[in-house]
Amino acid sequence: MDERHGTVVIGAGPAGLTAAYELLRHGATVRVFEADQVVGGISRTVERDGWRFDIGGHRFFTKVPRVEAFWHEVLPDDEFLLRPRMSRIFYRGALYDYPLNAGNALRNLGIREAARCMGSYAKARLRPPRDQSHFEGWVSARFGWRLYSIFFKTYTEKVWGMPADRLQADWAAQRIKNLSLARAVLHALLPRRNRKDVTSLIEEFQYPKFGPGMMWERCTDEVRRRGGEVSTGTWVTAVHREGGRAVAVTVDGPGGERRVPADHVISSMPISELVTAVRPAAPAEVLACAADLRHRDFLTVALVVPEEFSFPDNWIYVHDPAVQVGRIQNFGSWSPYLVKDGRTCLGLEYFVFEDDETWRRPDDELVALATAELEQLGLVRPGCVESGYVVRMPKAYPVYDERYQHNVDTIRAWLARELPNVHPVGRNGMHRYNNQDHSMLTAMLTAENIVHGAGHDVWTVNVEQDYHERAGRGDGRRGTGRDAPIVPGRTVAATVAGPAPSRRPTGVN
Ligand SMILES: Cc1cc2nc3c(=O)[nH]c(=O)nc-3n(C[C@H](O)[C@H](O)[C@H](O)COP(=O)(O)OP(=O)(O)OC[C@H]3O[C@@H](n4cnc5c(N)ncnc54)[C@H](O)[C@@H]3O)c2cc1C
Repeated sequence: MDERHGTVVIGAGPAGLTAAYELLRHGATVRVFEADQVVGGISRTVERDGWRFDIGGHRFFTKVPRVEAFWHEVLPDDEFLLRPRMSRIFYRGALYDYPLNAGNALRNLGIREAARCMGSYAKARLRPPRDQSHFEGWVSARFGWRLYSIFFKTYTEKVWGMPADRLQADWAAQRIKNLSLARAVLHALLPRRNRKDVTSLIEEFQYPKFGPGMMWERCTDEVRRRGGEVSTGTWVTAVHREGGRAVAVTVDGPGGERRVPADHVISSMPISELVTAVRPAAPAEVLACAADLRHRDFLTVALVVPEEFSFPDNWIYVHDPAVQVGRIQNFGSWSPYLVKDGRTCLGLEYFVFEDDETWRRPDDELVALATAELEQLGLVRPGCVESGYVVRMPKAYPVYDERYQHNVDTIRAWLARELPNVHPVGRNGMHRYNNQDHSMLTAMLTAENIVHGAGHDVWTVNVEQDYHERAGRGDGRRGTGRDAPIVPGRTVAATVAGPAPSRRPTGVN
């Protein structure tokens, strides 16, 4: 490794901190710049008045042995809890076991509705919908309209913010490919030991006792202890290029604006914002691709309630169309260390677009909305919510539309050609639906590319389509890479000039 200035890492989420940690193993010089005041990115743990909660819930599960080893190197084993996974589906006042259980489903649906579901299934088998190119057609053809509308439609539409007949079917085909109604019923009736597919879904996962943020706070301490710099509240606002490579970044932090020279830049900031930060500017067609990449955003309202309203699930999917909330976490079920004696904290999750009406509502209105919905669902008695906190997380989900692959490929090729020492990593950094483990793996491989010239292609991480949390062999690189549907692209052509990096933290804390 030939080093003059060392490596600048943009972002102190799992990918950025892993990259820094790995580079330091090899004695490299590392500076990490994080726009937010806290580390952990989307995998942070938010703390308010002594309550701790996640952005979503973050299970620590991986098939990548070196990621597993990393987690246990950073956090001693006794700081991890092994938690049972439990989640159910809430629909019209009843909780359905997940995976489905025939007795429970029958009891909840009632004989009459169950008969209707079977009738609708028979109809779909005899006369399947003609158009199965979209999610709705594909799933209802296999399960019948009624079961589709109870168990698939509403939640999917809440998550992606559009009618299910606008989502391409291949995602459903990939996720649900081995599931037919007959098989689902069989599974539901079989004793547990015979449920091969179901038991291979992870039933336990690891969880740091104070939440995922604990991992990344500890990792930050370790990076600093080993001589790396981690500056929070510090934006990377520009990446400067000269002579066919990046030579420096501009950062804007507590000490004002300054230029920091770099031999390499590892970037976990959204790839679209990276492109718009490059100076001199990228060509118009590359900026247009950046401007055309979209995200789905996310908002949690954490409500403190008496412990009597706790439930054993880690989360409940809310399929009920009468409310806006999509999922409810019970942080007390994730870890007793997140909550206080005699109470629990429920996280009501809303899938939104940044700057839509819900996103812009003041916090007190959102707390009132979440409280009213929790009461409406019958999960708490009216008047029992004691306090509430709102956390907004922009760019929680990279959106895959018909043009996203072309956009990412164009940006990627341009970066490789014009800025070979700029290395996109992670989730939004690569506009890929990576979980922590695959985000971290891209960072580990990038560190090896920088230190040893290893020549790994990080874009091969998490691309195969047969992962879905099943036990298996290999180095764990394989993944779904497509754990999201293809949604329609924007109808208006992308503007040529991309947006400047939005100068606000990715998450409010
Ligand atoms: C609801 C939800 C649930 C999830 N559940 C799980 C789970 O159960 N298990 C799991 O393993 N994964 C889960 N994930 C995925 C996990 O959160 C991500 O894979 C992981 O956080 C990605 O890490 P990252 O470092 O690539 O990106 P991020 O976490 O997004 O971190 C990027 C960092 O870069 C910073 N940044 C951005 N722009 C700039 C800039 N210009 N200058 C400086 N800093 C900048 C941001 O502030 C941020 O801190 C979940 C995600 C969501 C949305």
